Amino acid sequence: MELRNPYTSAPDFSQLALDVPAFAPFVRTTSKGLPTIDFQDEKAVRALTAALLKRDFGLEIVLPNDRLCPMVPGRLEYVLWILQVASVLPTSLTSPRLPTLPDLTGIDIGTGSSAIYPLLACRTLHSVRMVGTEIDDVSFEHARRNIGGNGLDKRVALMRADVEGSVFPEDMFGASSTFDFTMCNPPFYSSAEEVADSLAAKELEPFAVCTGGTREMITPGGEVAFVGRMVDETLVLGDRIRWFSSLLGKYSSVAQIVALLQKHKIDNYAIKDLQQGQTKRWVH
Ligand code: SAH
Repeated sequence: MELRNPYTSAPDFSQLALDVPAFAPFVRTTSKGLPTIDFQDEKAVRALTAALLKRDFGLEIVLPNDRLCPMVPGRLEYVLWILQVASVLPTSLTSPRLPTLPDLTGIDIGTGSSAIYPLLACRTLHSVRMVGTEIDDVSFEHARRNIGGNGLDKRVALMRADVEGSVFPEDMFGASSTFDFTMCNPPFYSSAEEVADSLAAKELEPFAVCTGGTREMITPGGEVAFVGRMVDETLVLGDRIRWFSSLLGKYSSVAQIVALLQKHKIDNYAIKDLQQGQTKRWVH
């Protein structure tokens, strides 16, 4: 099965404005006469995300003003990659390959207000069911509405997680006794200063204009601690989950997580770099 990302180049903003009229007021013209939007204007960035999801996936979503606004092409790239990994690999080393359209079950840790990973996964493969977890009340409530509003509440279960508790809450096994994959766009940073440095170095997506959302990008110890907790929990969860994965925002984190995997004698891992627009991410 090959799942191709349709977003190989920047969207044609003029065409998108014709296809989704609500997007039209945000289209500007560059000095060279090309259509664009103001990526520093959070309303314009949210309108772009909503328009792409509507036109290309038939998804209607409402994003709150003060939370992260996901950029569709990069989110889709990760979804396509993990669905591909989870669907073509054998369930165990001795079993035959799965049929091309398997029933897949996945988990999205920190699904955010958009619930974008579960929504895109469900629209990409009709046989996918997912659990999304979230700790933030505002994001949780919006995710619930975005999932229900698109008629996906039978396929996407939303679960509240506890910041102090397990990254993979035990409740999720009520939705499915095993899972094929997990995914996560973790809080990358350990402090507000680190977010500010990253902004200055232009490492953040344009969603960084949604400054209220920066809180969601912070976790004690940053992404290495967060993904490290996931690795520790995988040792206990074992084969109840086939593939664990997470994005990493910083290149230096990759070596730290690999060292942790090696310490636990885990050698069946893969690293892929995902590049969409100006933001590069690593996925394990
Ligand atoms: N998946 C969304 C949001 C990513 S931001 C996207 O890609 O756009 C990271 C999210 O993880 C935030 O919504 C934050 O509230 C949530 N989060 C942080 N710690 C968490 C935890 N322990 N369990 C579940 N969600 C968590």
